[in-house]
Amino acid sequence: MSRLVVVSNRTADPRKAAAGGLAVAVKESLQQTGGLWFGWSGKLRDSESGTSGESDIKLQTVGNVQLATLDLTQEDHDTYYLGYSNKVLWPVFHYRLDLANFNVRFAAGYRRVNQLFARKLMSLLRPDDIIWVHDYHLIPLATELRALGCGNRIGFFLHIPMPPPLIMAAIPEHEWLMRSLFDYDLVGFQSEADVTHFAGYVESEAKADTLPGNRLRAFNRTLRVGAYPIGIDVDEFASLARSRDGVEMFGQIREEYSRRRLLLGVDRLDYSKGLPQRVHAFRELLAKYPENRNSATLIQIASPSREDVGAYDDLRVEMDSLCGAINGDYGELDWMPVRYIHRNVARKKLPGLYRASRVALVTPLRDGMNLVAKEFIAAQDPSDPGVLVLSRFAGAAEQLKEALLVNPYDTQGTALAIQRALTMSIEERTARHTALMQRIRQFDVHWWSSSFLADLSSTESSGDFRAVVSSSANLLN
Ligand code: UDP
Repeated sequence: MSRLVVVSNRTADPRKAAAGGLAVAVKESLQQTGGLWFGWSGKLRDSESGTSGESDIKLQTVGNVQLATLDLTQEDHDTYYLGYSNKVLWPVFHYRLDLANFNVRFAAGYRRVNQLFARKLMSLLRPDDIIWVHDYHLIPLATELRALGCGNRIGFFLHIPMPPPLIMAAIPEHEWLMRSLFDYDLVGFQSEADVTHFAGYVESEAKADTLPGNRLRAFNRTLRVGAYPIGIDVDEFASLARSRDGVEMFGQIREEYSRRRLLLGVDRLDYSKGLPQRVHAFRELLAKYPENRNSATLIQIASPSREDVGAYDDLRVEMDSLCGAINGDYGELDWMPVRYIHRNVARKKLPGLYRASRVALVTPLRDGMNLVAKEFIAAQDPSDPGVLVLSRFAGAAEQLKEALLVNPYDTQGTALAIQRALTMSIEERTARHTALMQRIRQFDVHWWSSSFLADLSSTESSGDFRAVVSSSANLLN
């Protein structure tokens, strides 16, 4: 059997619980098969250190997984990671052109680090390794690997949304980025909408031909594409809910809120998650349906994220002010409408919290998938389940049709959906939960990784790599 090599911006210790959708899913899939996980260590190094002026790879074996990590210089970190990844690709792929900073230094750093990753990874590769590259930090990695002569099968999975063609076209290097994807053998997206956007882009901008078997032909290469909605480990999550931590958390929260109805939001503090809009909708609920006053309580966990990127500071200030205002205007001596927690909550505590909540508010303005939506469903008591209020703009909405789907920009509509969730009959709650549970069980994280890897293994490599490499490399020079 071929060895699996996973490449992502960061790696994580597979024995430890990790926050963040990608780390959780990659860890779970790599642990099944064993293999090599390659990425940035998360550490910075002196630009002068290292034997050849470059970071040395640090190898570490953890169970059946070998971790290979390297350090980055401050300049690489600032341009590749903070700059191009988080100030260009993240905002644009989440439709936020207003927050993008198209600095040419960022693009150069992004390419330099992808070249560094390719050089370092090449020294560890075996001829029959299957390589699985993850996410927006590493779009051109296959191009750089091919330039060094790598003929391995390489797949790419984009965890964040693929924007429509005209939004993508706002990135000055859009052509280089999209052409780079054709150096992979298989490119996976979270949803059918993402596949449609990508196909639309290459058909209009590169006159790509659509071939049978979900294949696209352009730039002398044939690429297979598909939607592989990422899932969770349902059994592991349900067992966390039954574990000592889970039961304790559930008991504690149920007791504390025995006279109240709990609404829950769990997100990174990110502008894509629609947090201010959510607080506005909750405020509208209290204003328009007064029976919820002194009763409905929103616990909003917003774990700190990318604090060195300016847009995240602004959001923090906005959330502090909105939550303060709602508590000031509606709070009583013995009740605060919003409990806002700007800290990471340990993953093992979440199942009990999910289970004790009557309603989950998962209302991003744009999201690749959103695993919290699936975790909430998995943690419910099937005989008395809570209700999921889900943004139609989350990738998860394509699969989770039995949730109450909302437009998070519509404050009144979202407040109405929350009210509906709070007053829903047990029969309706159970019927919806049963259908949702079936779906997340069928399309769990094991399905996600095995179906992607099966398709990657069976995809024929085609085209002349070198011709593509030299022409796409020129695009950025
Ligand atoms: N999470 C966590 N603690 C927190 C906040 C989030 O463990 O305080 C976990 C959550 O359980 C989920 C992941 O982080 O597994 C977030 O994944 P999601 O797809 O919802 O969003 P992302 O952060 O990847 O955009």
